[in-house]
Amino acid sequence: MAANKKLLLLPGDGIGPEVIAEVRRVVDWMGQRRSVRFDVKEGLIGGAAIDATGHPLPDETLSAAKNSDAILLGAVGGPKWGSLPFNLQPERGLLGIRKELGLFANLRPALVFDALANASTLKEEVVRGLDIMIVRELTGGIYFGEPRGIEDKPDGTRKGVNTLTYTSPEVHRIGRTAFDLAQKRKKRVCSIDKANVLETTVMWREEMELIKSEFPDVELSHMYVDNAAMQLVRNPKQFDVVVTTNMFGDILSDCAAMLTGSLGMLPSASLGEADPSGRCPALYEPVHGSAPDIAGQGIANPLATILSFSMLLRYSFDIDEDADMIEQAVKNVLDSGMRTEDIMETGRTKVSTGEMGEAVLKELDKLVA
Ligand code: NAD
Repeated sequence: MAANKKLLLLPGDGIGPEVIAEVRRVVDWMGQRRSVRFDVKEGLIGGAAIDATGHPLPDETLSAAKNSDAILLGAVGGPKWGSLPFNLQPERGLLGIRKELGLFANLRPALVFDALANASTLKEEVVRGLDIMIVRELTGGIYFGEPRGIEDKPDGTRKGVNTLTYTSPEVHRIGRTAFDLAQKRKKRVCSIDKANVLETTVMWREEMELIKSEFPDVELSHMYVDNAAMQLVRNPKQFDVVVTTNMFGDILSDCAAMLTGSLGMLPSASLGEADPSGRCPALYEPVHGSAPDIAGQGIANPLATILSFSMLLRYSFDIDEDADMIEQAVKNVLDSGMRTEDIMETGRTKVSTGEMGEAVLKELDKLVA
């Protein structure tokens, strides 16, 4: 079969190249054992790009990103580049690519694998079986609103200003993303706002209700953000898809992530708007950073990145069967007791990054046998 899907891998820095190498093996496995082949390219981003070209997001990487069907990123950053000017820091490469591709929807699943249910700081019965999806608006809201800044007043005091704005089209597109996702899940969306205080989110709530009429099979509820923070730790399993503004999503998605207890297990996706040909820009990445403290030791957990690849198959290519298979393989590996150091417990078998990748491939082999 011809290579038909253009996949750009951006390993980046620290443990990024180590975890991307394990995904590369899964991609190769799919080419050999499944009906989907990828035209895979690798590009430079972050500190690795600074070292090679002087810039964290070289033009070549950006044009390869615009030309690909999906991008999978490892991680960027590290102390080596910490003293560079702000606009040349590795993280600017990642922010730049998100901006250039117009990635307005950030998807952060919080999924607890049974074998890791006791890794959470919450009681096991609260998190066992947890499967929620936080959809955060990523390009609008108070992080980007104008006016903004710090003013020196004539009376010698200072005033800090940030502005929370959303337009109805911005609410509609993030709302549709959430409802679309809910249709593939348990068909429930909870929209989080602060409509008792902020007019912008009164409008957000009203526009969400309008969009709901396009999705009659999906149930919509609303919750104030302060209550949502409580409910996420009290009874997180009440949620299916949660949709919210940029700042609320920033905070709540980190809170939800910690319900699962392990940074090395968390995938994410950032999606843009489809062009007339139907191609939708999309960047997938683990939630964790470049982990300079363990880079080069072969002990990083590659599962967050492998799970990011399964999200890529599901959301960019609609290959649910293969995405399910990868998730099942990860589950089986965990059930078998294999653990990288970050999720290690007594009585389990400690494995390296490469051994964990190898174990996932073996499980995949068994699943297609
Ligand atoms: P981090 O996520 O890199 O590491 C936090 C802790 O978790 C470390 O102890 C690390 O060893 C551990 N850890 C993270 N991922 C792991 C994995 N896959 N397996 C095992 N252990 C893992 O966060 P940090 O230390 O705050 O940041 C380090 C660098 O990464 C900084 O330069 C930061 O700017 C950057 N960063 C990048 C991204 C990104 O590329 N999206 C995200 C967050 C941080």
